[in-house]
Amino acid sequence: MPNESIITRFAPSPTGWLHLGHAYAALWAARLGTQFHLRIEDIDSGRCREHFTQGIYQDLAWLKLEWRPCVLHQSTRLEIYQQALADLRARNLIYPCWATRSDIAAAISSKKNAPSKKWLHDPDGAPLYPHIYRDITAQKRADLLAAGGAYAWRLDMEAALATLTTPLTYQKYDPETKTCTPTLCDPRLYGDVIIARKEIPTSYHLSVVIDDAATGITHITRGQDLESATSVHRLLQTLLGLPAPLYFHHPLVLDGAGRKLSKLVDDEGFRHYRQAGLSLEAVLAKLPPPFGKGAFGDA
Ligand code: GLU
Repeated sequence: MPNESIITRFAPSPTGWLHLGHAYAALWAARLGTQFHLRIEDIDSGRCREHFTQGIYQDLAWLKLEWRPCVLHQSTRLEIYQQALADLRARNLIYPCWATRSDIAAAISSKKNAPSKKWLHDPDGAPLYPHIYRDITAQKRADLLAAGGAYAWRLDMEAALATLTTPLTYQKYDPETKTCTPTLCDPRLYGDVIIARKEIPTSYHLSVVIDDAATGITHITRGQDLESATSVHRLLQTLLGLPAPLYFHHPLVLDGAGRKLSKLVDDEGFRHYRQAGLSLEAVLAKLPPPFGKGAFGDA
């Protein structure tokens, strides 16, 4: 279908200046999309800053990218995320969890049979949740809720997986051939993942699937570092009755030492090239193909 719309998005969090890895991701999204959306992922009010949001607009404009005028700010959508949480809660697919990091560490060390036994970690490096508050009685849960302490909402992974009637897959999109390959998901890797944080009534995973659906995103383009999270996203999409977009996970732009670029380390962002007087062409040339001549690891 040659005239079919391909709707893509670039979804940065305004917690720092955009680096070359962001430029690469944004260029991919804009290149593949016949409609290209910008979404500001600003749910983490403690870390997001307005000047970084303004920096995103300036940097993308300097890259000569044109996004749809309706920029979605996640901070304005907390009620919508709450509705999805209420739905999952009504179906007993999530449960409140009061555990702190140290409670989790203590529960894990008490469960280890032998010191050599390694506890599993999720793809982001967090230890799998040891189910501290999953199987408590309804009375204990009611008492804890009444006591008013801060709690997160966790997905009951077993209950969620039990709702599936077919194996969970995602469609891996190849921009060269424009074809898709069904790829098996493995959300179990995340265990009882947090769906709403203690301090924020949502999470990256929940907001992303709701907003991608709300803006009709057909093709998700993002870095390979987020490929594992796609399993959780497909599970949430299935639970919430949301459409399944196609996924293209592009290689990451690495620094000269082979490390993933980060907002903390690359704190000046690629805007410093602009401020130093480099042309757009010179900055694009630093990027790996198809935008520049750099190798993955030159940035
Ligand atoms: N906000 C995420 C980030 O800055 C990207 C979200 C996504 O593409 O799914 O890494």
